[in-house]
Amino acid sequence: MEAKEYKTIKTEIRLPYELAYGATWTRFFEGLKNKTIFGTKCTKCGRILVPARSFCPRCFVDTDEWVEVSQVGTLIAWCYTNYKYFGMPTEPPFIGSLIRLNGTDVNFLHLMGGFDLNNFDEVKKIIKSGMKVEAVWSDDRKGHIMDIKYFRPL
Ligand SMILES: [Zn+2]
Repeated sequence: MEAKEYKTIKTEIRLPYELAYGATWTRFFEGLKNKTIFGTKCTKCGRILVPARSFCPRCFVDTDEWVEVSQVGTLIAWCYTNYKYFGMPTEPPFIGSLIRLNGTDVNFLHLMGGFDLNNFDEVKKIIKSGMKVEAVWSDDRKGHIMDIKYFRPL
Protein backbone atom coordinates (compact mmCIF):
# COMPACT_ATOMS: atom_id res chain seq x y z
CA MET A 1 0.00 0.00 0.00
CA GLU A 2 1.37 3.35 -1.01
CA ALA A 3 1.82 5.99 1.75
CA LYS A 4 -0.47 8.92 1.38
CA GLU A 5 1.34 12.21 0.87
CA TYR A 6 0.11 15.27 2.72
CA LYS A 7 0.91 18.76 1.58
CA THR A 8 2.03 21.12 4.32
CA ILE A 9 2.44 24.83 4.75
CA LYS A 10 4.94 26.49 7.07
CA THR A 11 3.37 29.15 9.26
CA GLU A 12 3.96 30.93 12.54
CA ILE A 13 1.88 30.99 15.72
CA ARG A 14 1.96 34.08 17.90
CA LEU A 15 0.96 33.79 21.51
CA PRO A 16 0.40 37.14 23.23
CA TYR A 17 0.39 36.91 27.00
CA GLU A 18 0.66 39.15 30.02
CA LEU A 19 2.92 38.41 32.99
CA ALA A 20 2.36 39.73 36.49
CA TYR A 21 5.60 41.36 37.71
CA GLY A 22 5.30 39.98 41.23
CA ALA A 23 6.86 41.68 44.27
CA THR A 24 10.50 41.59 43.14
CA TRP A 25 10.06 42.93 39.60
CA THR A 26 7.50 45.46 40.84
CA ARG A 27 10.12 46.93 43.16
CA PHE A 28 12.78 46.76 40.44
CA PHE A 29 10.62 48.59 37.88
CA GLU A 30 9.43 51.16 40.43
CA GLY A 31 13.12 51.86 40.94
CA LEU A 32 13.57 52.55 37.23
CA LYS A 33 10.73 55.05 37.39
CA ASN A 34 12.84 56.90 39.96
CA LYS A 35 16.09 56.58 37.97
CA THR A 36 17.39 53.89 40.29
CA ILE A 37 18.64 50.46 39.24
CA PHE A 38 18.13 47.85 41.94
CA GLY A 39 19.79 44.50 42.28
CA THR A 40 19.48 41.83 44.92
CA LYS A 41 22.37 40.16 46.74
CA CYS A 42 22.64 36.44 47.32
CA THR A 43 23.31 35.73 50.99
CA LYS A 44 25.19 32.52 50.11
CA CYS A 45 27.51 33.36 47.17
CA GLY A 46 27.42 37.15 47.61
CA ARG A 47 26.67 37.84 43.96
CA ILE A 48 24.66 40.93 43.11
CA LEU A 49 22.01 40.10 40.54
CA VAL A 50 20.46 42.71 38.27
CA PRO A 51 17.65 42.99 37.33
CA ALA A 52 16.71 42.13 40.90
CA ARG A 53 15.72 38.49 41.38
CA SER A 54 13.83 36.87 44.22
CA PHE A 55 16.34 34.00 44.45
CA CYS A 56 19.85 33.16 43.31
CA PRO A 57 19.63 30.79 40.34
CA ARG A 58 23.03 29.34 41.27
CA CYS A 59 22.49 28.73 45.01
CA PHE A 60 18.69 28.43 45.08
CA VAL A 61 18.41 30.64 48.16
CA ASP A 62 16.19 33.69 48.55
CA THR A 63 17.83 37.05 47.90
CA ASP A 64 16.27 39.47 50.34
CA GLU A 65 19.01 42.13 50.44
CA TRP A 66 18.36 45.00 48.03
CA VAL A 67 21.18 47.14 46.68
CA GLU A 68 21.17 50.18 44.44
CA VAL A 69 23.67 49.43 41.69
CA SER A 70 25.81 51.69 39.53
CA GLN A 71 24.43 53.21 36.33
CA VAL A 72 27.86 52.85 34.79
CA GLY A 73 29.23 49.59 33.49
CA THR A 74 31.18 47.74 30.83
CA LEU A 75 29.86 46.72 27.43
CA ILE A 76 30.44 42.97 27.36
CA ALA A 77 28.91 42.10 23.97
CA TRP A 78 26.61 43.67 21.40
CA CYS A 79 24.58 42.78 18.34
CA TYR A 80 23.50 45.20 15.63
CA THR A 81 20.01 44.57 14.25
CA ASN A 82 18.73 46.34 11.14
CA TYR A 83 15.63 44.31 10.28
CA LYS A 84 12.20 43.89 11.82
CA TYR A 85 11.10 40.78 13.67
CA PHE A 86 8.25 39.87 15.96
CA GLY A 87 8.80 40.87 19.57
CA MET A 88 11.64 43.29 18.87
CA PRO A 89 12.35 45.79 21.70
CA THR A 90 12.27 48.88 19.46
CA GLU A 91 12.32 49.92 15.80
CA PRO A 92 15.51 48.95 13.94
CA PRO A 93 18.29 49.71 13.72
CA PHE A 94 19.17 48.99 17.33
CA ILE A 95 22.03 47.44 19.26
CA GLY A 96 21.14 44.70 21.73
CA SER A 97 23.82 44.74 24.40
CA LEU A 98 25.07 42.83 27.40
CA ILE A 99 26.26 45.27 30.04
CA ARG A 100 28.01 44.44 33.31
CA LEU A 101 27.06 47.25 35.66
CA ASN A 102 29.88 48.18 38.06
CA GLY A 103 29.76 46.12 41.23
CA THR A 104 27.34 43.52 39.87
CA ASP A 105 27.95 39.90 38.96
CA VAL A 106 25.66 39.22 36.01
CA ASN A 107 25.17 40.85 32.63
CA PHE A 108 22.28 43.27 32.12
CA LEU A 109 20.52 43.09 28.76
CA HIS A 110 19.68 46.47 27.21
CA LEU A 111 20.40 48.70 24.21
CA MET A 112 23.28 50.93 23.18
CA GLY A 113 22.50 54.35 21.75
CA GLY A 114 23.14 58.06 21.80
CA PHE A 115 24.72 58.14 18.33
CA ASP A 116 23.66 57.56 14.74
CA LEU A 117 22.73 53.91 14.33
CA ASN A 118 21.96 54.00 10.60
CA ASN A 119 25.47 53.30 9.28
CA PHE A 120 26.91 50.05 10.59
CA ASP A 121 30.46 50.95 9.50
CA GLU A 122 30.27 54.10 11.64
CA VAL A 123 28.69 52.18 14.54
CA LYS A 124 31.65 49.77 14.52
CA LYS A 125 34.03 52.72 14.94
CA ILE A 126 32.10 54.01 17.97
CA ILE A 127 31.35 51.00 20.12
CA LYS A 128 33.71 48.29 21.25
CA SER A 129 33.25 45.45 23.69
CA GLY A 130 35.01 46.39 26.91
CA MET A 131 34.17 50.09 26.70
CA LYS A 132 32.61 51.99 29.62
CA VAL A 133 28.94 52.92 29.23
CA GLU A 134 26.29 54.71 31.26
CA ALA A 135 22.51 54.63 31.48
CA VAL A 136 20.51 57.40 29.78
CA TRP A 137 17.03 57.85 31.24
CA SER A 138 13.79 58.51 29.44
CA ASP A 139 11.94 61.67 30.45
CA ASP A 140 8.67 59.76 30.45
CA ARG A 141 9.26 56.86 32.87
CA LYS A 142 6.49 54.36 33.51
CA GLY A 143 8.09 51.56 35.50
CA HIS A 144 9.27 49.72 32.38
CA ILE A 145 12.64 48.43 31.16
CA MET A 146 12.62 51.20 28.53
CA ASP A 147 12.67 53.82 31.31
CA ILE A 148 16.36 53.46 30.54
CA LYS A 149 16.40 54.74 26.94
CA TYR A 150 19.75 53.10 26.26
CA PHE A 151 23.33 53.02 27.45
CA ARG A 152 25.75 55.43 25.83
CA PRO A 153 29.52 55.30 25.55
CA LEU A 154 31.32 57.22 28.29
ZN1 LIG B 1 24.10 32.62 45.15
